[in-house]
Amino acid sequence: MPPSGNAHNGRSGHNHCYGHYHSFFKPNDRVRADVPQWVKRRETLKSCFPTYESTSIDTFPDEVRTAMDSITSLKHPKANCPVYYGDASPIVDYSDVTKAAVPLAGDTIQQVVEDMADLLIGLPNSAHPLHQANVLPNPNKASIIAALIANYTSQNAIEGEYAWNLCKAEMETAAMVAKLIPKWCETEAGGIFTYGGSGCYLYAVKYALSHVIKDSRCKGIPDVNAKLICSQQGHYAKMNSTDWLGVGMENIHEINCDDDSNEMELSHLYDVLQECKSKGEPVAAIICTMGTTDAFAVDDVKAVREYLHKNQINDPSKYNQPLIYCDAVIGWSFLLFSGYNFHANPLQFSEPVCRKIEQTYHKIKNIGYADAVGIDFHKTGWVQYATSMFMMKDFRQYRDLMSRPGSAYLHDRTPYNPGLYSLEVSRSAAPALSAWATLKYLGLEGFQTIIGGILEMSQYLRHIIKKEENMVCVNEEDYGFVTLFRMYQSLKGPDGEDLTADEMYEKELSIGSHSHKSEVEWLKANNNYQQKIADGMWSWLHADTPPQDGWTPPFVTYTSGFRTTDPVDDLGSEYVIYALKSYPMNVSVTTNHMHSLLAHFKECARKVDNDELPTIPNDLICAPYTGKWSVPDCDGNHDGPKITSLLSGVPGKVKGRGKAKGRKEGKGAAVGRNK
Ligand SMILES: *Cc1c(COP(=O)(O)O)cnc(C)c1O
Repeated sequence: MPPSGNAHNGRSGHNHCYGHYHSFFKPNDRVRADVPQWVKRRETLKSCFPTYESTSIDTFPDEVRTAMDSITSLKHPKANCPVYYGDASPIVDYSDVTKAAVPLAGDTIQQVVEDMADLLIGLPNSAHPLHQANVLPNPNKASIIAALIANYTSQNAIEGEYAWNLCKAEMETAAMVAKLIPKWCETEAGGIFTYGGSGCYLYAVKYALSHVIKDSRCKGIPDVNAKLICSQQGHYAKMNSTDWLGVGMENIHEINCDDDSNEMELSHLYDVLQECKSKGEPVAAIICTMGTTDAFAVDDVKAVREYLHKNQINDPSKYNQPLIYCDAVIGWSFLLFSGYNFHANPLQFSEPVCRKIEQTYHKIKNIGYADAVGIDFHKTGWVQYATSMFMMKDFRQYRDLMSRPGSAYLHDRTPYNPGLYSLEVSRSAAPALSAWATLKYLGLEGFQTIIGGILEMSQYLRHIIKKEENMVCVNEEDYGFVTLFRMYQSLKGPDGEDLTADEMYEKELSIGSHSHKSEVEWLKANNNYQQKIADGMWSWLHADTPPQDGWTPPFVTYTSGFRTTDPVDDLGSEYVIYALKSYPMNVSVTTNHMHSLLAHFKECARKVDNDELPTIPNDLICAPYTGKWSVPDCDGNHDGPKITSLLSGVPGKVKGRGKAKGRKEGKGAAVGRNK
């Protein structure tokens, strides 16, 4: 700025300051020798950024190469390759994080990259075939490069003016997926990328509230207990969204699950809908989960749609009818079997796997009956985090409903302006570009092969588990990617009788409140053993590093709430079944890895039995992250979820789950309380 005395005559041409500025630079934009310190320093900072012009002095591509070299140097030869980056994976120590401070002079790019590589040491490597803890896929190359390119150019996907053709990635991805959904039309449907499956859920609940309670966007949600209906096994994102949107977690109405299929029990759903109707409480949305994380239950969205066709649930003088949302973040990728000839079976999947895929595909394709659907590319799409798309069947209806008033001052210089109806304001183009690149790169056949391959390898794992005397697979009937199994320390029943592993499990399933105390204790001890093995795997992985004697412990975990026992009368009790878990997500998994997995479990059991494994500390952290915090306990007067069920399932602490009236006695349903 000119000195204040000159502020009003800046155009006079006698301005000392402007002339002074001009003397800093040569005609070629280089700086002259005798300039203020900031000008010199700024000149050196140019090397911190990729150049704007094409020039041989742009060192960025080489620096990326060097960075990649330092990451790949953390990998190991195949023969004895640990499941993590680097030479060792001692437990993470967060106890000195508050020592961090911004340096005065920045470090060199080499130094920063080196420090970054240090953060990777011990990190689980999701590309490793023994990385089988959860639905944590390794990203494909096209999606990583897409993210790099989108970040390199860093365009704001708020509107076409800024993101230009990168907006096509969002629109084209929506069109590509819409074409896979029966009854949807790519010229009517649309999609918007957001921050995760939970973000999609939030979009869904907001869309539903705005649709059903017509003036809620302006006036807020009236005091009417707008309901969200979903299955007991639906993901806990139902809590995030009702909580954060002010609907209230007690307004979630959980529907019992069918004992065999784990699907939402339709008769219970209809009862609940009629109950809401008679109370005059509007139902905002019915959520169908299309593939739960562990049991892979797929709700019958077609039946839900047909019921809504025939029955008016919300009082039409005040409300619109409920919206149907499919939480398909796990199951969506079966849509990519669209057009697969299950009879000719060109990829030559085994008969049982081909039948499983066919049946799953036919359930998943009923997404077509929903108003909106959530898709996670970072789950079963082999894309990095966070890459999720919320899709609406009738895009224009959504847009008309959700456009922001007072947005006229934004300049719609291009015809695509999602910032006018998106949750976010600034938005990265990286997720859309990554998803788009992945669909093009892998194609239908690529996805079909990866998904089928997981199911084939899981099938093999189940086969070899069967041959193990002390093990039993507990989800033989499920259609998903996970194999859940139990290991027994001894094959003795509650009365000391000799049993096979199968008989052990059968006996466990028969335990309930009628059972003798010793039987309940026996079940508890068997559950504890699963936990001990899983904890043992954890401590083996992180204590015995680098791995010894050719062992390379896998990254695996367990669920403390796979399902309830058969005669369950209280899901929150000790009558639940824990299970060890294999979630083999990547294309490198072979039968050898499955044998290795079992061998590790058996060796771990031996170590656990002989008390050879140390306890791994998990308190290496400093303030403000230390200490306990409290969680509100939503104690409604109905069968809504308890907030304690957000915590990893601790039997006995999850009060009231499944006490719903009308819950049939019979086989237990999956609980699926883990992520
Ligand atoms: C993972 C998951 C979510 C949450 O999605 P994020 O991408 O983790 O936010 C929601 N629903 C189901 C069924 C899930 O498995």
